[in-house]
Amino acid sequence: MDGPWLRRLPWALLAGALCLACARSPLPAPPRPVLASVDIIAVGHGDSILVTSAAGKHLLIDGGEAEAAPAILAVLRARSACPLDLILLTHPHSDHVGGLSRVAEACGARQYMDSGYHHESRIYAHLLEILERRGIPLLQAEAGRQIDLGAGAVLTLLGPPRPFLEDGPEGANASSVVSRLSVGKASVLFAGDANAPEEAWLLGRGFSLRSTVLKVGHHGSRTSSTAPFLAAVAPRLAVISNWPDAPKHPHPETLERLRAANAQVLETGREGTIHLELDAETVTWATANHPQHQEVRLP
Ligand SMILES: [Zn+2]
Repeated sequence: MDGPWLRRLPWALLAGALCLACARSPLPAPPRPVLASVDIIAVGHGDSILVTSAAGKHLLIDGGEAEAAPAILAVLRARSACPLDLILLTHPHSDHVGGLSRVAEACGARQYMDSGYHHESRIYAHLLEILERRGIPLLQAEAGRQIDLGAGAVLTLLGPPRPFLEDGPEGANASSVVSRLSVGKASVLFAGDANAPEEAWLLGRGFSLRSTVLKVGHHGSRTSSTAPFLAAVAPRLAVISNWPDAPKHPHPETLERLRAANAQVLETGREGTIHLELDAETVTWATANHPQHQEVRLP
């Protein structure tokens, strides 16, 4: 098994051998085991995120545009993630649902879940056809539902709002399945493309939003990441899924609000795929362009 939490195992064995060789010499404490990892996959325009727990559970949040499927499948295969335990679609816009049909066919999944927001599109309808053909059960996301990923990792659904907040072009975004992964003191909030009205709804629900890492809503657009929402989340690290030279993604005003909230900002458009590792105390991150792991400062 080549799960990321085993990356530190050789160092633990080496530390043990050194300890036998010089029993009286104090050694630094061995690294804590990684309990969950998160890959924010560089898919160009869109979102696709793989969550892997030390218990061997694999959850895919969104699937980018259709052209992103090969990049997503490469990560899934590298993590031995097929078949997925769950595909979670935050909302049915093409930059989130586009690659899922091919992923569901090539990788397989035990379950599929989405917001239930009604959306007429050929891409979304095709995904539902594939799921039915493969016998993959459809579940509807409900705020408050908890998904146990094992090894102490729990994904709590915080949305979508019920009833849905908006109809029209912004309705799907405002109905995003927002979720929060927690492992001990470490946590990651996945905001989908939630906009200001959904953020206000979340603030009014009394959920625990505070998170070590925020997957920034709607690719850093100006109409997401309001100051009150960022104050509640208080992220140390803000990850934006975008694409190189994306106009207004992130928007300068969003970047300013993130900086004012003291969040370090990483963008997939600049860094490539971003990899997080969570243990009970800390989060570390590395990227395709900066592979050396760095620790997120916890308050
Ligand atoms: Zn999007």
